[in-house]
Amino acid sequence: MHQKTRVRFAPSPTGPLHIGGVRTALYNYLYAKQTGGDFILRIEDTDSTRFVPGAEDYIQETFDWLGLPFDESPAKGGKYGPYRQSERKEIYQQYVTELLKKEAAYIAFDTPEELEARRTEIPNFQYDATTREKMRNSLTLTAEETQSLIDGGIQYVVRIKIEPNHDITVSDMIRGDVVINSSVLDDKVIYKSADELPTYHLANVVDDHLMEITHVIRGEEWLPSAPLHVWLYKSLGWEETMPRFAHLPLLLKPEGNGKLSKRDGDRLGFPVFPLEWRDPASGDLSSGYRESGYLPEAVINFLAFLGWNPGTDQEIFSLEELIRAFSFERCSKSGAKFDVEKAKWYNHQYVMLMSNEKLAACFMPLLAEKGIVASPEKVTRVVSLVKERVHFVKELWDQSAYFFVAPESYDEKTIRKRWKRETPDQMRQLMSLIGKMEDFSAANQEKIVMNWIQQQELHTGNIMNAFRLAVVGEGKGAHMFDISEVIGKEETLKRLQRAIDTIPQPDGNV
Ligand code: GLU
Repeated sequence: MHQKTRVRFAPSPTGPLHIGGVRTALYNYLYAKQTGGDFILRIEDTDSTRFVPGAEDYIQETFDWLGLPFDESPAKGGKYGPYRQSERKEIYQQYVTELLKKEAAYIAFDTPEELEARRTEIPNFQYDATTREKMRNSLTLTAEETQSLIDGGIQYVVRIKIEPNHDITVSDMIRGDVVINSSVLDDKVIYKSADELPTYHLANVVDDHLMEITHVIRGEEWLPSAPLHVWLYKSLGWEETMPRFAHLPLLLKPEGNGKLSKRDGDRLGFPVFPLEWRDPASGDLSSGYRESGYLPEAVINFLAFLGWNPGTDQEIFSLEELIRAFSFERCSKSGAKFDVEKAKWYNHQYVMLMSNEKLAACFMPLLAEKGIVASPEKVTRVVSLVKERVHFVKELWDQSAYFFVAPESYDEKTIRKRWKRETPDQMRQLMSLIGKMEDFSAANQEKIVMNWIQQQELHTGNIMNAFRLAVVGEGKGAHMFDISEVIGKEETLKRLQRAIDTIPQPDGNV
């Protein structure tokens, strides 16, 4: 029988999730769904010193917003739970005991001061096969001595015993086989008596095994830990069921080299967190993609492309399409440069893909905030006329305010260029033409006005721009007759009259 894919996203709740973490989770999700598998959230909170309140809720809220549901999680439960490592303490203890019994691990009593002294004494000191003989541990002490230290309440750690000169193979779905000699590894601490908790490495491996994780897809920064994890699997006799690995490329700064950091975001004005985050300690607020106006579909599409590409020109992918197209073969080994302009471009594409009705529904609350009362039909028409010009829903107001409120002032430059001595008179003629129109559709207005311009041998540019100046207040905006159609005949006439009455003539007279 084919084994069901089970992948997990395993963040530590030490603050807001970085956007790179969201990308890791997304790739896990895509792979799980492509193979009909499960996507699991596991909270790795064994390091109580780094625990930040609210971080777990933030993680859950992020994936609710993105529409990437977990099949098992602390909130949802599942038959492999609990899904918070802090609630699995007893489970880990049992494996620590087992490793000690197998002599695959040992107890060490060295104090931080003693370790520090060694580090100064021996250049590049590491606790390993060559140095452990000289340290204070259960390998150098007798069984009785060890026991009496423990009984005396002396704090200790458990270290994994890495045997030197073994080739350890990490088979990575992106990088191929990565072979590392065990001699370069140190005897990492896997358990601390002080808080009776395993360290990250042991908890991670034990949980991946017990939760029957088939693929470990995670950030590149964990690649150096992978050989140790493989060693732990072997030591625990779990080699047969060891998950496959994929270490994803780093997200790099938009310019130069190095990892994308929060500082880059602050400096260049883009969020590095999915949702806004208020630091509970400092009170500092960091911006989020959601609050900045990004649509979840755009964020997903954009993140999918940071480290993967489909090998074709297609850039717009629905979640369903991404699930189908994703593959580790097309993930890059080298870092992916973060590009905020591309993120905005994606958002624009998704704004354009939204139905006008839906876009209008998103815009209505912003209009209400400005005290604008408008029918959904009008707002729907307006957004259809201006959406091409925006990256974000919130930018719709700047592009469409003139549909809802008459201009209060008129752009000086356009006045100088387009409001000539003869303009008021021409605008009066235009008003009388408009006044007689029965059919005020854009098409009919255009026909009649253009006809009049031709017959009177007027200058189209001057007339249309003066008309625009009167209605919009400046030389920009949607197609002129669409604007007048939407605001209606009466309002168009009112605005023309007001412009005639208030825009000064070139000689300074009104
Ligand atoms: N808790 C680790 C982290 O914060 C998990 C890494 C992994 O996926 O194994 O990234």
